[in-house]
Amino acid sequence: MYERHEMLELVVIDGKARGIVVRDMVTGEIESHAADAVILATGGYGNVFYLSTNAKGCNVTATWRAHKKGAAFANPCFTQIHPTCIPVAGEYQSKLTLMSESLRNDGRVWVPKKKEDCSKEPSQIAEEDRDYYLERKYPSYGNLSPRDIASRAAKEACDDGRGVGPGGLGVYLDFADAINRLGKAAIEERYGNLFEMYQRITDEDPYTRPMRIYPAVHYTMGGLWVDYNLMSTIQGLHVLGEANFSDHGANRLGASALMQGLADGYFVIPYTIGDYLANNKLEKVTTEHPEFVAARTAVEERTKKLLSINGSRTVDSFHRELGKIMWDKCGMARDAAGLKEALVQIPRLRAEFWRNVKVPGTGAELNQSLEKAGRVADFLEFGELMCLDALQREESCGGHFRTEYQTEDGEALRNDEKFAYVAAWEYAGEGKPPVLNKEPLEFENVHLSTRSYK
Ligand SMILES: Cc1cc2nc3c(=O)[nH]c(=O)nc-3n(C[C@H](O)[C@H](O)[C@H](O)COP(=O)(O)OP(=O)(O)OC[C@H]3O[C@@H](n4cnc5c(N)ncnc54)[C@H](O)[C@@H]3O)c2cc1C
Repeated sequence: MYERHEMLELVVIDGKARGIVVRDMVTGEIESHAADAVILATGGYGNVFYLSTNAKGCNVTATWRAHKKGAAFANPCFTQIHPTCIPVAGEYQSKLTLMSESLRNDGRVWVPKKKEDCSKEPSQIAEEDRDYYLERKYPSYGNLSPRDIASRAAKEACDDGRGVGPGGLGVYLDFADAINRLGKAAIEERYGNLFEMYQRITDEDPYTRPMRIYPAVHYTMGGLWVDYNLMSTIQGLHVLGEANFSDHGANRLGASALMQGLADGYFVIPYTIGDYLANNKLEKVTTEHPEFVAARTAVEERTKKLLSINGSRTVDSFHRELGKIMWDKCGMARDAAGLKEALVQIPRLRAEFWRNVKVPGTGAELNQSLEKAGRVADFLEFGELMCLDALQREESCGGHFRTEYQTEDGEALRNDEKFAYVAAWEYAGEGKPPVLNKEPLEFENVHLSTRSYK
């Protein structure tokens, strides 16, 4: 067990994954580990947006470095935005807090009907002046509409100038009816911990004043391409959990990520990796092999380079700027013009990063700025792939909403004829455009249909 070690390179020998290079995050030592196969279970990449509900440590480094060694990256533009998060409160916030989905069982989502009411106390807004927009637009599902629908509807209300709270980026989640109907004690029993958490963060009492919520990046459906055995396009490299692209399609509609993690880890990999090992004759390799030496040298040089730039901008300031580009241009709604702008802005920001980032300290110690710098450097490459993927998918599909492709009443418009495929991107080398491989989606028992929550 190697705790506090960050995997920074995958080692591929004769086309097979044979080990990794890691940095000991406490001592800074770079270590190599040889193996017969490699399993990555390194989570999602939601933090490319800077602000998300994910732990700050979640990043794309492991999967991105494996991608650069030959593992195809599938559907990177599919991101799930969760509708019930505490809204952004300020410029220097580093994380967003998720309020549980369960709150929508009893809470009613609304915004004022009139823009001029947005600055009023919610209790001063009469019932007939409130727009319970989910109940209005989606009468069969109402406040329990799925995440993509509820998130987009909140964005539409705020874009329409009817958002509440700082910056107008919030909608109300109101428990007044539920408290009247069931009593405060019942609501406290169901959601007391969440209400307390909300109050501690916002200093507002959700028993007497509606909560304010806004959508936030929460889960990434894209990831390294894997087959049914959870093996990537590199022989012997297996990818589990949120790090792979499988199971959740474009939307993770109601599907449990934790169940996927359990299924991958308990039921699939113990059998498929054994099968791989039994059927592949693997020569013994040691960490003296030239591929190990090259991978280790690459890690050392990259570390040295990051520490030597000594520019004038912090790693976080680059990350924040990248996150804003991603959120504005490749977030809840995307269009070709915005994505093309992002594809100009990201390489520009990346070039500035390698010229002007300041990473204090040394490599031979616990150095969180250095750790973050490596991850942000990867996000600055990966963000471009996300935008490319979103640009080529000229349809709206699950978590990917292209404003050009919507029905007359604003719902997502898929194009199954042209886009019923997995987009599996292949790294083509430094400075070269990635290659798009299309794996057709074939439905034999279940037929494609369009969701409706009306
Ligand atoms: C706030 C929140 C609430 C959620 N609630 C639910 C829920 O109710 N139900 C549900 O099904 N799903 C939920 N999810 C989603 C679910 O928790 C995740 O999808 C799931 O935990 C992913 O598991 P994983 O093992 O694939 O990755 P993770 O749990 O993200 O673990 C990845 C691990 O790899 C480590 N790592 C990353 N890069 C490297 C590297 N280069 N080297 C070494 N280590 C590395 C990370 O530090 C981390 O420890 C929630 C997610 C969040 C953020």
